[in-house]
Amino acid sequence: MLKIGLTGGIGSGKSTVCRLFAEFGVPIVDADLIARQLVEPGQAALSMIARFFGQQMLNQDGSLNRARLRDAVFTDADKKRELDGIMHPLVYAQIAAEVNTLTADYCIIAVPLLLESKNPYVVDRVLVIDCPVDVQIARVTARDKLTRQQVQAIIDSQMSRPERLSKADDVIENIAGPEQLAEQVKRLHNSYTLLATVRTQ
Ligand code: ATP
Repeated sequence: MLKIGLTGGIGSGKSTVCRLFAEFGVPIVDADLIARQLVEPGQAALSMIARFFGQQMLNQDGSLNRARLRDAVFTDADKKRELDGIMHPLVYAQIAAEVNTLTADYCIIAVPLLLESKNPYVVDRVLVIDCPVDVQIARVTARDKLTRQQVQAIIDSQMSRPERLSKADDVIENIAGPEQLAEQVKRLHNSYTLLATVRTQ
C-alpha cells in the first residue's frame, strides 16, 4: 500500500484536508488520535508518563492532566525529549499496526510532527499542508482559546515554513476557500490512485 504522510504547521488545515480525502473513501491513520488513545487510563504510556514526570501529571480520576504535561515540556527541551522517547515508538508501532489492517490503494497517515521527529515514520510521499503564518494565527485564535502570542510561540517551536516546504513531495496550498481546497484534494487523490496502481504492476 502506498503510504502518504500528511503534515503541516498548527492550524494549516491538516484535519480539514483529511476529512476531504476521507470523502473519497481513503483510509486515514491519525497520529494525534492514536497518541490520545495511548494515554487513556490503563494504557502503558500513561503509567510511564506518571513514572517519569510525577503523579502530579494525573488528574484525581487517574486521567492525564494534558495542560500540566504541555506546560512541563514546552519550556524544557530535555523533558520534551523524554516524552517523545516514550510516545513516538508507541505511536509509530500503532500506526504500523493500523496500516497493516488496511486494504486500500493508498492511505493517508497524518502526523503533525512527521518532519520534526528524530526517527520519523517512513512514508512513500510527504504531503505538506501549507499556508502563511498570519493565516495560521488567524485560524487558531478563532478556533481555540489562545492568544496571538501563544500561537506564535507554538509556530516558533515547529519547523519553519520554508524548511517544511523543502521536504515536501506534494503541497496543498490552503489559503483560499473550501472549493479550491477540495479541487486540490481531488487532483492529488487521482494522482495517488494512479501511482498506487502503477506501483503494484
Ligand atoms: P492543528 O494543527 O491545530 O491540529 P489543523 O492543521 O488540523 O490544526 P484544521 O483544524 O483543519 O487545522 O484547521 C484550522 C482551523 O481553520 C479550523 O477551524 C478550520 O475549520 C479552519 N480552516 C481550515 N482550512 C480553511 C480554509 N481553507 N478556509 C477557512 N477556514 C479554514
